[in-house]
Amino acid sequence: MKITLKPLGNITDEVMQELKDMVGSIFHCPVEITAGFGDLAQAYNPERKQYLSSKLLASLEKAKREERVVGIVDVDLYVPRLNFVFGEADIDSGTAIVSLCRLRQEYYGLAPDEALFLERATKEIVHELGHTFGLGHCPNTRCVMHFSNSLPDTDLKEAHFCHKCRPKIIL
Ligand SMILES: [Zn+2]
Ligand SMILES: [Zn+2]
Repeated sequence: MKITLKPLGNITDEVMQELKDMVGSIFHCPVEITAGFGDLAQAYNPERKQYLSSKLLASLEKAKREERVVGIVDVDLYVPRLNFVFGEADIDSGTAIVSLCRLRQEYYGLAPDEALFLERATKEIVHELGHTFGLGHCPNTRCVMHFSNSLPDTDLKEAHFCHKCRPKIIL
């Protein structure tokens, strides 16, 4: 199994390297970073000033056998009935998308905290990857598969799968 991370937009190489290492240490499999996908403009909604998550997700190429693909963007994502989403996954194509936008302290007018930002991003990426492995949401608030309605939920959970979810990840 291999995980491919595809940054799109304004994300530094340093951030991608950190995320690569952190995601790799949780799944214990090779993680690759490859150049961006699609383009952001086609998913932009000028009324909402946000980007349609499902459209960007669909623009990711289907994952190969033994592969999972995660698109990583820095813009704010939405789906029609929600104010925003941290990410979205498509189990059939083995792909997912994650937004870093609301994971930075700066978004809330707070002082930057790079370590916290990277931790949140790792959790959201691992969470969406969990969905691509067929996992649903977990009632355990510490488990990475717990649903994050807001950032405090994300901060409460760990980047790891709980003992019930972990065995369901077949690499
Ligand atoms: Zn979820
Ligand atoms: Zn769990």
